[in-house]
Parts: sequence; structure tokens; C-alpha cells
Amino acid sequence: MILFSFTLNYCYNMKPKIEKSEEEWKKQLTPEQYKILREKETEIAFSGEYFDNKKKGTYLCAACNNELFSSEAKFDSGTGWPSFFTPISLDNIELKPDETEFMSRTEVLCKRCGSHLGHVFEDGPLPTKKRYCINSLALNFKEKKSN
Ligand SMILES: [Zn+2]
Repeated sequence: MILFSFTLNYCYNMKPKIEKSEEEWKKQLTPEQYKILREKETEIAFSGEYFDNKKKGTYLCAACNNELFSSEAKFDSGTGWPSFFTPISLDNIELKPDETEFMSRTEVLCKRCGSHLGHVFEDGPLPTKKRYCINSLALNFKEKKSN
């Protein structure tokens, strides 16, 4: 019980390290990115750049370049959104209960800038059984050049 309330406080008291006004975000992001990252919209399935990306590399927050997901944790969920079974580190993301749209979901945010990335569901593959369902528009991809 102590651990539980500690976790809750930890989640709710989190303040992003990068704080910008919505005007500043609007200038920095494309209108499509802004809708997802700052207004929590969801891109249309199969519309994004990365759902089918099989290259090796790192997925960064499109707003602040925080390292979020590795291609090693990416899997084909068939949903049309990039899906990962784990983030690079739980320290880089923030999870928040989301009760909108008549569903009980868990929202995934970038911990550094507070931008909306997507949602996490409990129907992913082993080893975590989590499915981090992330908008392509919320991500930048940094390809790892093999040599
Ligand atoms: Zn960010």
C-alpha cells in the first residue's frame, strides 16, 4: 500500500524538464505533430512513417529528441502504429491514467518535455506482455549504421 501510493505520487508530481509555451511548441512542430504531441490526438492507423520500419536504430521524441524506444523492442502488432514491448528506460517516459473516449487506458508521455506519445496496453508479447502503441508523428528515427 505504501509502495502503491508512492508510485501514484511519483506519477502525478512529475514535472517535465523542458517546459515551453504552446506558442513555442506551435512554432517548433509541424501542425500534424502538434496535434498529436500537444493535443493528444492519434494519427490514422497505417498512415505513419514508422509502423513498418524494420531498420535498426533508436526512436527519439519528435519534440525534444529524448531517447524513447529501441528497434530491438519493436514488433509487428498489426495495428498500423509503431509498437514496442518496452521503452529504453522507464525513466524516459511517464505513464498516466487516461479515462477519455469511454476507455480506461494508460497514456504514454515523454518525461523530458511532457509531450503525448501514445498509449500502453497489456496485450503485448513476452517478455513484458506490454504493447507501447506510439504515433509515428511523435517519433524521430535515428538509424544505426552497421559497420
Ligand atoms: Zn520529449
